[in-house]
Amino acid sequence: QAKSLPNIKILATGGTIAGAGNSPTDTNYTSGQIKPEQLTGQIYEIEDIANISAEQIAAIGSQNLNNTLLLQLAQRINTLLASEKVDGVVITHGTDTLEETAYFLKLTVKSNKPVVLTGAMRPATAISADGPLNLLNAIVVASAETSKNRGVLVAINGAVMDARDVTKMNTTNVQTFQSPNFGNLGFIHNKKVFYYHQSECQSGVFNVDKLNALPDVGIVYGYANASPLPVEAFINNKFDGIIHAGVGNGNICNEVLEALQYARAANLQVVRSSRVPVGATTADAEVDDEKYGFIASGTLNPQKARILLMLALTQTRDWKEIQQYFLKF
Ligand code: GLU
Repeated sequence: QAKSLPNIKILATGGTIAGAGNSPTDTNYTSGQIKPEQLTGQIYEIEDIANISAEQIAAIGSQNLNNTLLLQLAQRINTLLASEKVDGVVITHGTDTLEETAYFLKLTVKSNKPVVLTGAMRPATAISADGPLNLLNAIVVASAETSKNRGVLVAINGAVMDARDVTKMNTTNVQTFQSPNFGNLGFIHNKKVFYYHQSECQSGVFNVDKLNALPDVGIVYGYANASPLPVEAFINNKFDGIIHAGVGNGNICNEVLEALQYARAANLQVVRSSRVPVGATTADAEVDDEKYGFIASGTLNPQKARILLMLALTQTRDWKEIQQYFLKF
């Protein structure tokens, strides 16, 4: 191993980046078929950037990501980064829930070393597959001195983004990830990363190293003529919290609002978020959060609000304290 190059560990979890189809133009494929060694083997000049080693953590489509795998990933990354022999971690991941894993890791990995997620929209067997360049760029980002102390990053389609704001915005296009509230941190070009912004939100604030389960938090979608049944199902099944993906600024129709008050009375936490992809759900608009004991999600979308509420519930059941977490993290 060349001593002067950083040691980067790839943790492979599956997804389209490791997907294989029957033909280069086929849209049908299976996630997680290609081993990480095969992926890195396709990348020209990788040995000039970093010393690479890889571990296969899972081989799934990320629609099957679960809390057990989130905990396993965070624990493995904390162990790896505590070693002097590892300078950075790259996680290959399906794009569907990549944003959830990225934010979970931002909140639970305690290290100043770079942690970078990447994925692909086209399977490894496709014509113009985007995976190899995305993986190369993620390795570039993880290897850069300037990536330290930035929390968890997502490097995809030439952009580098913060784990908190990044979200999947297009079902099929390679230009799918955006940071709709705050924009990209920078870009990657010709094996170099260029930064222009830094996130102000705190990283590594929850310790999950000894946990083997997380609280149960579900999401309820808002729409015209919405039914209170999903809220009632979560109450009856003893969930710990509900994220309401409301309309507009997290608004809730009367029937569902009533069900959410029952949820609070049954000691579930309720977070108001929004189905609108951009903007903040604020505590001072049409819903009186103080009166109901609801938490406003701010600029976290519903799926990220679920991640933060699960972690918050490992610390406290005080909704006002959890509201502070939503403002800071
Ligand atoms: N559903 C798959 C996943 O998230 C494919 C999406 C992708 O990786 O682009 O793993």
